[in-house]
Amino acid sequence: MKITFLGTGTSQGIPVIGCTHEVCLSGDPKDKRLRSSILMEWDDYRYVIDCGPDFRQQMLSANVANINGVLFTHFHADHTAGLDDIRPFSQRFGHIPLYAQESVIKNLKERFDYIFATNNRYVGAPSVQLNTIENKSFYIGNKQILPVEVEHGKIKIFGYRVDRFAYITDAKRISTTEKEKLQDLEVLVINALRIEPHPTHLNLQEALELIAELKPKKTYLTHISHRLGFYADVSKSLPEDVFLAYDGLTIEV
Ligand SMILES: [Zn+2]
Ligand SMILES: [Zn+2]
Repeated sequence: MKITFLGTGTSQGIPVIGCTHEVCLSGDPKDKRLRSSILMEWDDYRYVIDCGPDFRQQMLSANVANINGVLFTHFHADHTAGLDDIRPFSQRFGHIPLYAQESVIKNLKERFDYIFATNNRYVGAPSVQLNTIENKSFYIGNKQILPVEVEHGKIKIFGYRVDRFAYITDAKRISTTEKEKLQDLEVLVINALRIEPHPTHLNLQEALELIAELKPKKTYLTHISHRLGFYADVSKSLPEDVFLAYDGLTIEV
């Protein structure tokens, strides 16, 4: 399976609009981060996890001409706001399958009422096929996906495990039971927001403690704020086999 990091930034991305922080002014392309999302590709299948406000740019940059579906981690705007831009796919290929827990689907129906309207539906609206998922395994294409429930402040959201790869974003805490699903990983992707603690996201130290506990072979950090520091500096400070992800990075799992 090939994983492409489409975006690795926190909710406002990097640079933040109008921000004069040194990381926001950095000339290093690895310090430019769109909102967090990945593309998973295997055989003829192509799925994205989350569909934030940068989705259109991400599909263009990664040269994606079709997708088989979108998996959502949670309803926050930085993970859902680009849903209208699945139109080029639904116009060409028909209903795009969406996978999310019930609370997320309910929220999407409020945010994007015109997409889900049954009466007087606007002809140009994206067309989707809803799949309500629970905290148990399901299939996309020929692969089994295992949701991993993590705590993002007060809300419970999903990360996903596929084979020996797991993608967790926006976590602050993971229960002992759910941590069991993250054993024996080849690659873990986990969020690490910044140096200082944050009420709803792991900071760098908390992420590193979790990695030390779970012991994946390799870990990539994502959902990064400008307040974590420069890519080049932070990369040098990380333990062996822990890396900062960056936009456009591809890995094979
Ligand atoms: Zn987020
Ligand atoms: Zn969030």
